[in-house]
Amino acid sequence: MRKPYIAGNWKMNLTPSEAAKLATELAAALKGNDRKVMVAPSFVSIPAVVNAVKGSNIIVAAQNVNDHKSGAFTGEVSTSQLADLGVKDVILGHSERRHIYGESNELINSKVLFALENGFDVVLCVGETLDERESGNLEKVLGDQVTIGLKGVAKEQMSHITIAYEPVWAIGTGKTATPEDADSTHKVIRKMIAGLYDESVAEDLIIQYGGSVNASNVKALMAKENIDGALVGGASLSVEKFLPIVNFDK
Ligand code: PEP
Repeated sequence: MRKPYIAGNWKMNLTPSEAAKLATELAAALKGNDRKVMVAPSFVSIPAVVNAVKGSNIIVAAQNVNDHKSGAFTGEVSTSQLADLGVKDVILGHSERRHIYGESNELINSKVLFALENGFDVVLCVGETLDERESGNLEKVLGDQVTIGLKGVAKEQMSHITIAYEPVWAIGTGKTATPEDADSTHKVIRKMIAGLYDESVAEDLIIQYGGSVNASNVKALMAKENIDGALVGGASLSVEKFLPIVNFDK
C-alpha cells in the first residue's frame, strides 16, 4: 500500500521571513494530520522553515544539491551543509534545472547517487516537453531520464527514491495532463522500474504527478491507481491553496 505524498516546491519565491510565516501557518493547519507532506524552500529560507515546522511532521527539502563533498564550487550547496540544518530530502532533476540551467541526465544521476550515499531521500523529477510529446518521443525521453537518472542506484536504495512525473508543458501553465493521461504515463514509468529492478520495487515506488495541480483537480488525479502524490508549485505558496491539496480525500 503506497502512502500518499504531497510536496510543495516553493521555487525562488518568498523571503526567509515570508517562508517562516507560511511554514508556521502550515504546521498549525496540519497539526494531528499524518499525511506525508514536504515543502522545499529556497536555500536561504531553510533554517527559518526548519525552525518553524519543528515538532510537526512536515519534511523540509532542498530544491537542489551539489554532487561533491566540499570545495571550489562557487554558488553551490553541499549535502553536509544541508544535513547540518536538519535537511535530509532533496528534489533533483526539476525541469527548471534541466531546461534553464542545462542539467543533463548524467549530472542529475551523479547528484542522485551522491545524495543517496549521504543519507538523503530524493524526489527525482522527470517529464517531457510539448515538442517531445508531439513528436512521439515521450517514452524515449522518460526512459532516458529514468534509466540514466537511476544508473547505479541499488535495489535497496529505491525506498529512498520518489519519482515526480511533471510534463514540462503543464508546469506553471494552468494546463494539467488529464488524470487518464497522467495515470497511463505513471504506469509506463512503473513498468520501466520493474524492468530495471523488479515488480516489488515498482509496486512500492511512490510516483507523484506535478503540473498545475490545484484544489480542483487533485482529487481526480489522486483517484488514479498509479498516481501516489503530487509535486505542487504555484498552489503550494499559500495555506489556503495547499491545504485542500494535502487533504484531497477529506
Ligand atoms: C513544479 O514546479 O514542480 C510545478 C509542478 O509547478 P506548478 O504546480 O506551478 O505547475
